[in-house]
Amino acid sequence: MHSYPQSPVWHPFTQHGLDAITTRIVRTQGAYLIDEHGHSVLDAISSWWVITHGHRHPAIAEAIQVAAEIFDQIIFAEYTHEAAEELAKGLLQVAPPGLAHVFYSDSGSTSVEVALKMALGFFHHAGDPRSRIVVMEHSYHGDTIGTMSAGERGFFNAPYGALLFDVDTVRFPEKGQEQDTLDAFERLCRERRIAALLIEPLVLGAGGMKMYPARLLTELKQIAEHFHTLLIVDEVMTGWGRTGTLFACEQAGITPDILCTSKGITGGALPMAATLCSREIFEAHLSVDRSRMFFHSSSYTANPIACAAAVANLKIWQTEPVTQRIEKLGRLHRERLEPFRLDPRFTNVRQTGTIAALDLDVSTAGYFSDVGPKLRRFFKDRDLLIRPLGNVIYLMTPYCVTPNELDRAYAAIDEAADVIGKAIK
Ligand SMILES: *Cc1c(COP(=O)(O)O)cnc(C)c1O
Repeated sequence: MHSYPQSPVWHPFTQHGLDAITTRIVRTQGAYLIDEHGHSVLDAISSWWVITHGHRHPAIAEAIQVAAEIFDQIIFAEYTHEAAEELAKGLLQVAPPGLAHVFYSDSGSTSVEVALKMALGFFHHAGDPRSRIVVMEHSYHGDTIGTMSAGERGFFNAPYGALLFDVDTVRFPEKGQEQDTLDAFERLCRERRIAALLIEPLVLGAGGMKMYPARLLTELKQIAEHFHTLLIVDEVMTGWGRTGTLFACEQAGITPDILCTSKGITGGALPMAATLCSREIFEAHLSVDRSRMFFHSSSYTANPIACAAAVANLKIWQTEPVTQRIEKLGRLHRERLEPFRLDPRFTNVRQTGTIAALDLDVSTAGYFSDVGPKLRRFFKDRDLLIRPLGNVIYLMTPYCVTPNELDRAYAAIDEAADVIGKAIK
């Protein structure tokens, strides 16, 4: 009926009954994954959005090597180390002004879990026990029980529904309907004691690369502030230049109460995450009473080697023209997307910074439709790593990608629309 896997490894987001794991990668370099047969695959989605500058940036690789000579994990309660201290200071320097403390963990999901716990702890300790969280339709915040609860519900979390907690959801602000989203949020704040709005700034990634203007985020922040509701921005995907600025919130001119960052924090080299928060949130936990401490820890909190990689990443942002690079990449996408805007085979052609997306116009859209896997195979046959979300094709390359490499990706998208789009329609 279907092939049974040869390997005991259970891969993420993989239906082993359908998709054989056939590609073994032996090396990475720049914008490429190199497989055992010597094929170079253009990593046009930055290996699930983690690789920013390019695979194996020499400065990050070297920092890891140097750190590994003198460190492995060290306990992070009672003890600290230089890389963690330097990284925290560095993060606060590049983050929106007003954030004051840095809590380390090891994945995007965990950074969001930490944010939710910080928010509830804040209200609990302030004697104003609020626990409701507002999220946006089509959001994704991770795959743990807590972050699934805050994310879009669907077949991908249906088996676990019984364990997910209840949240309030506002509609995604489709063009022209932004005011409805703002009004809905304001109504929720007025009617319920909302602890926090948890939101992906500017781009909703896994929900389909849905984009909304910075102005909306500014206005959501104003409403939240008015009702003493905390704003948690999940910059796990949008951080480190993806949207054209280091953090997406910069474009809205806001400082959230809590900011989650992971993926690009080490340039994609090692797992690492940080949850940044305001002084007020830290101080709500600050006491001589031990029961008010922040009860959270990951075993690998502030791993010294990962911290060293993240410090090296910060230095790259300081010493290399990363901002110019991402501006240029944004320009290259804009030029290449232009012809697709008038192309009847596509709808919703859009871009925020270095992220470009367009929807293949097929009747059977949706994650379960065949179009996603068919497109994926089509691109893979051309040595391109592009993983559409259903009929949503997007590019989110490392910043070292060249104009010619982008041309290759766009030419394949153009061709795929004829081959796959027509076959499915
Ligand atoms: C990827 C992602 C997460 C989860 O990060 P993991 O490291 O996979 O746990 C959370 N939020 C957003 C916006 C993401 O894109």
